[in-house]
Amino acid sequence: MTDEQAQKLVEQLSNEFFDRPFIHKAYFNSRLKTTGGRYMLNSHNIELNKKLYDQFGIEELRGIILHELCHYHLHILGMGYRHGDADFRNLLKKVGAPRFCSTLEQPKEKQVQKTIHIYSCTNCGQIYKRKRKMDIKKYCCSICKGKIKFLRSEK
Ligand SMILES: [Zn+2]
Ligand SMILES: [Zn+2]
Repeated sequence: MTDEQAQKLVEQLSNEFFDRPFIHKAYFNSRLKTTGGRYMLNSHNIELNKKLYDQFGIEELRGIILHELCHYHLHILGMGYRHGDADFRNLLKKVGAPRFCSTLEQPKEKQVQKTIHIYSCTNCGQIYKRKRKMDIKKYCCSICKGKIKFLRSEK
């Protein structure tokens, strides 16, 4: 997709969803890293991330454009154009745009399953679960002072 095509798409979506024209510039900015797009308050231009289109396709790009157009039109109309503003959130909902400028952010790291090491007292059988390995020569059972032995590691 070229800048011209991106411009066309933004104009088209603006008319279709907002019933108002987009009269500024929309283009790809290769320096955008994790944001899918960005609306610039000073120039009123919209920058788009080409990687978003390459990785996620046209639907994702459309979503981002709708999001940026919400900033654009509200800003021009002098309404609440920031993410936290009610005007902005209502308009997002109305046009079905995503809440965030980006889907490029890395998905949150899955909770890493920590290994648990299980020990028991050789005398009274008390079980000890530890996130770290323990030196069984150094420690003894806190109940009976018996010797500790390693049983197994579990996830
Ligand atoms: Zn935004
Ligand atoms: Zn014990």
